[in-house]
Amino acid sequence: MCGALRLSDAGQKAVLMGWVNRRRDLGSIIFIDLRDRTGVTQVVFNRELNPAVHDKAEELRNEYVIAVIGTVKKRDADTINKNIPTGEVELVADELRILNVAKHPPFLPSESVLANEEMRLKFRYIDLRRDAMQFNIELRHKVAIAIRDYLSSQGFFEIETPFMTRSTPEGARDYLVPSRVQPGSFYALPQSPQLFKQILMISGFDKYFQIVRCFRDEDLRADRQPEFTQIDLEMSYPQPERVWEVVEGFLGAAFKAAGHQIKSPFPRMTYDEAIRLYGSDKPDRRLPAMIDVRGAFDAAQRDRLKLGNDEPVLQIRIPRVGQVSGTERRKVLDEARQNGKLRTIDYYSLQKDAELALASTRVDKLYNESIKAGQPNEGFEADDASDFVILVAGKQSLPEHPSEGGVKPEVKQHDKALFTSAGQLRLDLARRYADRHGAFKRTGDPSKDYKFLWVTDFPMFEYDEEGKRWAAAHHPFTSPHERDMDKLESDPGAVRALAYDVVLNGTELGSGSIRIHRQDIQQKIFHALGMTEQEARNRFGFFLEALEYGTPPHGGIALGLDRIVMILAGADSLREVIPFPKTARAVDLMVDAPTPVSEAQLKELGIRVLKI
Ligand code: ASP
Repeated sequence: MCGALRLSDAGQKAVLMGWVNRRRDLGSIIFIDLRDRTGVTQVVFNRELNPAVHDKAEELRNEYVIAVIGTVKKRDADTINKNIPTGEVELVADELRILNVAKHPPFLPSESVLANEEMRLKFRYIDLRRDAMQFNIELRHKVAIAIRDYLSSQGFFEIETPFMTRSTPEGARDYLVPSRVQPGSFYALPQSPQLFKQILMISGFDKYFQIVRCFRDEDLRADRQPEFTQIDLEMSYPQPERVWEVVEGFLGAAFKAAGHQIKSPFPRMTYDEAIRLYGSDKPDRRLPAMIDVRGAFDAAQRDRLKLGNDEPVLQIRIPRVGQVSGTERRKVLDEARQNGKLRTIDYYSLQKDAELALASTRVDKLYNESIKAGQPNEGFEADDASDFVILVAGKQSLPEHPSEGGVKPEVKQHDKALFTSAGQLRLDLARRYADRHGAFKRTGDPSKDYKFLWVTDFPMFEYDEEGKRWAAAHHPFTSPHERDMDKLESDPGAVRALAYDVVLNGTELGSGSIRIHRQDIQQKIFHALGMTEQEARNRFGFFLEALEYGTPPHGGIALGLDRIVMILAGADSLREVIPFPKTARAVDLMVDAPTPVSEAQLKELGIRVLKI
């Protein structure tokens, strides 16, 4: 193995096989860096010692595949390479066999400047030879094995579920597979094994998991792929805390496999708290939370600032930003205003204004109190001199959604717009000043680098403005809170679900829920979603029937494996950790898929393609 030779091997014979990573021809001496999966070793061809082998080495070019027999030698002191593990030795070649030649590749695995991504994806087999990709794929393997081992040690069985199935209800478009035997009928590729894993609970496999491919035909972004891999699990009789414990366990094992010790249990926060404090259901806790400082303004001040009586005023604080010029601050505020939903109140001009100075003192006081309370701004001391602080309020008071009926403590629809816009501004500012506050840089301390969080008690329904109806926020098999059952029809917006997400540094790693296990309640939910009994039977009849045969209470979750590996690899795209990914247009550039198929194939399937 090319990466395994060490000083202790000096004097030994060795046989190495691999690719010519680089070749330096100094006339009477030719150096080759020979590469395989384990690393590189320098091979020396010396004309004086072995003219025939040296002559043959003159034929070598980048990416030729060769075998070398030689003797391991300690390198001269001035040629030792401290940067690689094999840097103290070299292999002096006695014999050389060229196993295969190679065309000059469009880019070299050894190049430090990356080829453009299209090239990398088209010639993926060359790209995968690069160190960084070898590292990422190995990391993926280690993480997957660690998760499997952990779950297996906890009594979970890995059970496969079909890829050719019925449409599943995760809310995206399905990829369809036409049936030849039953022309006009289609299988759907699963968006997740949701119903199968629930049926496995009904089947008596009380702890199931699967590292499984899922397929969703969605508009793609950097962090989405049409086919992606989930760590999917389900268990019988759990409280949510039991599911969280299992997830914390396997994430601990996965992070350990990547060399990081993480602490559990993870902090928890309800969806409503997350929206109020971070304006997001996936809070990034590497920076301070927002604080509602409406209490800092008295009636006269509210009047002057045109703030409604009970209107929230949110403070966004980005620490350690340092000097920001007046012009830049105005620019930031202008940009924030353009967002449409926000009105910005400049904290600094508040400070300059004698009449309002008192309010800004109170704003500071509120912040400091939140730090004293320990949560959620623990670890972020206020430092007015270097913190960038702005205050925002809503642009307009939107009318309340009629069905919300003033239920507390739920975030109301009209406030939500303000909280989420402010949350977005918080993130934009955090990114803009990332170099200054440094909170996104890895420190090597896992408790700072990896801020995990459980977000719990999600809304059961979301109002679909376009369709003018309530839709399932997660999926329709999620159990509502017992306490909210009576609001299913009267006030769907207030119903909270036993649904939870696990979040890391502002990214959703996975989501799950305790499920409905009673057929009558499942019917009720379908009804609340506007499905007639017949429609529910048509789509999910098999499942409704299964629920009637003794279904244990159950719950589970699914986490994105690609995303976890991406974060552990420090990569900025899922494509860096998926061996054969697709582009943003869902194309595999290497095999050139998708493609049209022959008339004969279409005919067999009873399909005619319309000209689009
Ligand atoms: N099937 C769900 C999803 O893919 C996860 C779950 O509820 O377990 O999002």
